[in-house]
Amino acid sequence: MDMNDRYRDLVAWDPPAFGQLGMRPELLGLPADDERLWVVIDENVWFRPLFFDMTTGSHCEILRVRRGGVLGRHRHPSPVHGYVIKGSWRYLEHSWVAREGAYVFEPPGEEHTLTVDDAEEMQTFFFVDGPVLYVDDDDRVIHVEDNLGLIRQCREHFDSVGLGADFVDQMIR
Ligand code: FE
Repeated sequence: MDMNDRYRDLVAWDPPAFGQLGMRPELLGLPADDERLWVVIDENVWFRPLFFDMTTGSHCEILRVRRGGVLGRHRHPSPVHGYVIKGSWRYLEHSWVAREGAYVFEPPGEEHTLTVDDAEEMQTFFFVDGPVLYVDDDDRVIHVEDNLGLIRQCREHFDSVGLGADFVDQMIR
């Protein structure tokens, strides 16, 4: 199986216009009902990686959480933008509920724990402009998640589902 067969219907790009300058091409993560794209984070919590920026340390992903799933308490030292594609979710630390079609901005320093109450799964696009610091109940950092760690996770996952560890490479700029 060559690279084009493996990635057909999942990701697309054209040759870079300025390849001689070392530019990497644009990227189109295609709509795909392919379970292999979802990387397990925790019980009932997955993310679909879309893009990793190794210059700024930002990344884009779709987070998917089903009822009962919890994305552990964490802090963002950089801004986060989110758009709810389907379903709804909330943070234990806030009173509001993010529903389908909602936009969410999280300022640097924001600390929260995400959970889903509804029967319908939620999917939210996130642009995360930096690392994620997981904290304990006393707000002490217990785990730093950056692009290097996320990419390592993706490599292991894509290798295990048969897409190949290098499937994630095309998402890196
Ligand atoms: Fe967050």
